[in-house]
Amino acid sequence: MPRLRILFSVPECFPFAKTGGLGDVAGALPIALARRGHDVRVVMPRYASTKRFPQERLRGPLGVPMGHGMSYGAVQRAELGAPGATVPVYLLENDHLFDRKGVYGDDGGSFGDNLERYTFLSRGTLELCRFLGFVPDVIHVHDWPTCLVPVYLNTVESESPLGNTASVLTIHNLAYQGWHGASEFWMTGLPRSALHGLGLERSGSLNLLQSGIAHATAVTTVSPTYAREIQTPASGEGLDPILRARGDVVGVLNGIDDVVWDPERDTHLAAPFSRDDLSGKAACKEALQRELGLEVAPQRPLIGLISRLVSQKGIDVVAEALRGILDLGAQVVILGSGEKWAEDAFGALSHSHPSFRAWLGMNEGLAHRIEAGADLFLMPSRYEPCGLNQMYSQRYGTLPIVRGVGGLEDTVENGVTGFKLYDLSAAALYETVRWALSIYRDDGPRFRAMQRAAMAKNMSWDQAGKQYEAVYRLAVARRRGRL
Ligand code: ADP
Repeated sequence: MPRLRILFSVPECFPFAKTGGLGDVAGALPIALARRGHDVRVVMPRYASTKRFPQERLRGPLGVPMGHGMSYGAVQRAELGAPGATVPVYLLENDHLFDRKGVYGDDGGSFGDNLERYTFLSRGTLELCRFLGFVPDVIHVHDWPTCLVPVYLNTVESESPLGNTASVLTIHNLAYQGWHGASEFWMTGLPRSALHGLGLERSGSLNLLQSGIAHATAVTTVSPTYAREIQTPASGEGLDPILRARGDVVGVLNGIDDVVWDPERDTHLAAPFSRDDLSGKAACKEALQRELGLEVAPQRPLIGLISRLVSQKGIDVVAEALRGILDLGAQVVILGSGEKWAEDAFGALSHSHPSFRAWLGMNEGLAHRIEAGADLFLMPSRYEPCGLNQMYSQRYGTLPIVRGVGGLEDTVENGVTGFKLYDLSAAALYETVRWALSIYRDDGPRFRAMQRAAMAKNMSWDQAGKQYEAVYRLAVARRRGRL
């Protein structure tokens, strides 16, 4: 099979910039594809936080046609590296647009000029191709910030050499659609025809995600169940009719970084452990109980939760069920930050209850120690496009208790590699925790067999790489009129 030329156009990419799962995907999937022999490159903005990484400036300015005329920037080249594969990352420099704290916004909310910022990235992606003399077979765009790329390919670029380039859109979270005022349309420099039909216009405003869904050669999302859910009125956020009309939305599960999340090599842990020897996990539990000031009790079940404390994650349901769960004799630790009411409630209980601790804020090391030291992990999400923490938990033999939605439904086998509830209620969460605790307390051999089954799962990026490769080949054939 001939190698593909693939360009990732992304608003974030770990380690250069990350706010969530999209950053992780953009930092890992290109490497998995490069390992499969493809010519893969990444383009993203050069944010203030990106400047500290090694990079070299390429010669010449990058002119990007915008609605108000030419906007000039520069290109810096950095590298995404892993043993056996390196991927060039082109950082589009425009300090006026990107040299500020925050990716999409700051404490004051979203930046008011986001349409201009991501128009520069999207149109700049195509100008970068000319700048480099690189004609990709496929441009892979992610979420609303790069949704204008497929629109440009189908309009202003349709007669250029890039007119043959296929586009693949991956939806990481349908709730973020890139709404902007219709009066800003001129900024995009697109012909007015791009506004109507299934274009940018929706309910009198601009909706970038809609335009990407309508124009991309292929559309994917990050789990098969989420792919089905977003095509229903209940979970389609208003875009389900156009997703259904396409009839080709594919769900590809994210992988996890199995170097960073490896209990045998994790430097954050008190002791390493593996599927064959779980003794180190007991040492991690004891160390975690000590670190958190909880009673050091090897037999007491310890339940962890690491999350943005927002409604998407079912945090309100956790808050409602928490006292009941503690009354079952479990210890509970929550690591996260988010909505004020949740931080206040968990913070207060942390001071008054001897078996509960809340650590409010981001703490990478503690996240690893919770994954390793806990016996069970809570993730009763309202919706979950893919989810990572349930997979980290499985890798660390910490059985996840999840709601069977989206990627959680696809990655947790009920009673085998974790426990599932379906009702989004405190009663359902409480009952499922009670079931898990009864196996933990009364059927040790089964609990350990479940831990081993979870740890044995293959969650590598290579699997996702293979599936994306198939999507790219289909999109390329479709674009070139062979399908
Ligand atoms: P989402 O992208 O919706 O926030 P995911 O489960 O897909 O949820 O990924 C969340 C990522 O952020 C995981 O790597 C998780 O460990 C990490 N994370 C979330 N909150 C914290 C925190 N307070 N401290 C450290 N890591 C966190």
